[in-house]
Amino acid sequence: MIAELISVGTELLLGNIVNTNAAYLAQECAQLGLSCYYQSVVGDNMPRLRAALLAALERSQVVILTGGLGPTTDDLTKETAADALQMPLEMDRHSMERIEAYFAGIGASMTENNRKQALVPHGAIVLDNDNGTAPGLILEKEEKRVILLPGPPNELRPMFEKSVRPYLAAICPGTLYTRTVKICGMGESKVAARIQDLIDRQTNPTVAPYAKSGEVHLRVTARAQDEKEGARLVKPLVRELKERFGMHVYTTDPEVTLERAVVDLLLANRLTVSTVESCTGGMLSSRLINVPGVSEVFKSGFITYSNKAKRKIVGVKKSLLQKYGAVSLQVAEEMAAKACSLTKSDVSVSVTGIAGPDGGTKEKPVGLVYIGCCVCKKTTVKEYHFSGDRAKIRELSVAAALTLMRQCILEYYSQMTFGKQ
Ligand code: ATP
Ligand code: MG
Repeated sequence: MIAELISVGTELLLGNIVNTNAAYLAQECAQLGLSCYYQSVVGDNMPRLRAALLAALERSQVVILTGGLGPTTDDLTKETAADALQMPLEMDRHSMERIEAYFAGIGASMTENNRKQALVPHGAIVLDNDNGTAPGLILEKEEKRVILLPGPPNELRPMFEKSVRPYLAAICPGTLYTRTVKICGMGESKVAARIQDLIDRQTNPTVAPYAKSGEVHLRVTARAQDEKEGARLVKPLVRELKERFGMHVYTTDPEVTLERAVVDLLLANRLTVSTVESCTGGMLSSRLINVPGVSEVFKSGFITYSNKAKRKIVGVKKSLLQKYGAVSLQVAEEMAAKACSLTKSDVSVSVTGIAGPDGGTKEKPVGLVYIGCCVCKKTTVKEYHFSGDRAKIRELSVAAALTLMRQCILEYYSQMTFGKQ
């Protein structure tokens, strides 16, 4: 079944807002097994919207429009769709009551133009809006479906999940079943090269690499009758990928992030952790602290940006800073080791680097970063050369620090097990 998206709004055309609704809906359609061949953006203009809708109806079975369901005169999506499909507007009592209740709930008085939002095309399926006033609508006309959703993402997404996804799932003949194998500590081209043979001979399921900041996600997708068949189809390929990438695979659970995987590892081994950051300025501790449950393991996060802070706060020796400079293997090592002893943590991570755009030299260029990780008194330091702007270098440093933490902890425990055998 072919679906098509039309995003309505002059703000989108002018680039004032980013079309996150289209990205969200396209992913959702793919998950449902709907093929999306066209997306368009149209301003708040009735004749152009009408033309876009009629063109979409020529080539697609499902057309999803977003935006322009509000109370003002520039909101004209519903009026246009009703006119194009020749479904006259009529007052929907249920929607009117909900809008009145919404205004009573927030203690505001209702204006006359809000009444317009309770007008629905004759025969439409009305979707309640739990986070706003404009109801969503599904219009069915001769094998074609037109779905109208409010523009604000906090209204659209819950409405999609509650009403639209089940509706589409019921009319779609099949489904797309997806699993994601998440890999850290290996670049995209290296990952892609290792699975080239799988990509070359793929039919169903397929595998596709997606580069994330400091990670690569391999999305395995099967077209199937139902979830059960999908799971059965993707299983052997997921197993193969796990074998090929071994320790680099940190999860196959879509909900698990790299920081979640690291925190889980700390929790499982009852290890406490501290961070000491220079160029990442707290981003590493922030990503760790984003994970619910981290309070069990996270002790302290230091931001030691200046040389003085490195000396005074964590006790890096002045002679070391003078001899090797703040961005050096030796200082990264000392920062990590000192953070561990100072906080009595089992694990500590240090980051020191040159994020640019200034401050680079021939010997120490922009993008040079040292990351140290101390696990139970054993410190490992790695040198990295990142490219990109300041924000990108800092982001990549954080991902590398999480990856190194994970690697050091896993190695520490594998050696212990190995030693015992
Ligand atoms: P409202 O009742 O708020 O007027 P609406 O359904 O009429 O809602 P629009 O007026 O088109 O929607 O957009 C309202 C707001 O929703 C925009 O200012 C923007 O913040 C957000 N929005 C609209 N379309 C999109 C989109 N395609 N992607 C992301 N955000 C969007
Ligand atoms: Mg509006």
